[in-house]
Amino acid sequence: MNKLGLYIHIPFCKSKCPYCSFISFKEKEESFDPYLVALQKEAIYFKGREVSTVYIGGGTPTVLDKKRLEFLFSIIHVNFSLSPEAEVTIEANPATFDLAKAEILRDYGVNRVSLGIQSFNNKYLEFLKRPYNRIQALEAVDILKQANFKNINLDLMYGLPGQDACEIEEDVKTLLSLSCSHASLYALSIEAGSEFYKNNFRLLSSDLQASYFELVKDMLIHEGFCHYEVSNFSLNNFECRHNLNYWRGGTYLGLGVAAHSYMEGRRLWNTERLDVYMNLLCQGFPAQAGEEHLDPLGQLMESFLIGLRLTEGVDLKKLEVIHQVKLPEEKERRIFEFIRGGFLQNENSCFKATVKGMMILDELCSRLI
Ligand code: SF4
Repeated sequence: MNKLGLYIHIPFCKSKCPYCSFISFKEKEESFDPYLVALQKEAIYFKGREVSTVYIGGGTPTVLDKKRLEFLFSIIHVNFSLSPEAEVTIEANPATFDLAKAEILRDYGVNRVSLGIQSFNNKYLEFLKRPYNRIQALEAVDILKQANFKNINLDLMYGLPGQDACEIEEDVKTLLSLSCSHASLYALSIEAGSEFYKNNFRLLSSDLQASYFELVKDMLIHEGFCHYEVSNFSLNNFECRHNLNYWRGGTYLGLGVAAHSYMEGRRLWNTERLDVYMNLLCQGFPAQAGEEHLDPLGQLMESFLIGLRLTEGVDLKKLEVIHQVKLPEEKERRIFEFIRGGFLQNENSCFKATVKGMMILDELCSRLI
């Protein structure tokens, strides 16, 4: 039976970061309770499903207080059957939890925390308008360790304006000194809808971004981390299983505003409007805003393109057997052009992105669709 990953979106944050294009809103405390009630109603539609991973993301789920977190976990445990080894992740931000909250998370079965640090340098934390400083970021990791979390991911950004190689090195060294099991390193990007995008903010050149990527990658690999996805590194056996399920074309169910699901070759998505999401569910309707049925070739392409994110690569022949369809010649020709250009490589029908390809993977994928 296919493993099902459960994603739950909590769209509230302490403040809105200028680079963010996610569906998230600056703390709207008056919406917290109606939103959780709507989530509860949505979960009932899928009651009884067995899930092997849970990922509570956002937004910043840890803006919820103790009572609301307890309610959130009761929604999960009442409606879903978690496999005994289930990985349960929650995203957190250093300004939103203390030891008591961390212990509640642990007691409710959370076994992985993904902490959005972004930088340990106060200058860049201010630039990114993150609501904490270096000391609080370090304390947050310490609190998670006191609460006995063994699987901690730290998110870090690089390629920030004015940031030089020494400052990036300093940030990665600090991350490594904290002995966490997983690291996600993202180059700053400008996403449509973000404050930076509206202000026509300019990024560093792609060559400079690429050299910084090599720098952070080499530092992490040198310390025993495995680079398993474009932006993700882990110590042995600490890969994020929930995200691996996405990248390997597995099925997942998303609950919450703007959440996406992929099940039985169908892609489904919820409304992006918070008020509409809550009203629909409150009136007894699902909050689905759209659905796309992928034909076998669509499913093959989806799995192939998303699989290119993984350093293990993606086996095209295997996908053709699974989906009972052959990749059209014109797409195959394009893939071989990318190989000649040094963006992809091919070993025994297994295709992988090179480092050069990883830097522009979204563009390569859009040219393959
Ligand atoms: S980047 Fe994260 S913390 Fe910042 S506004 Fe977006 S979801 Fe919230």
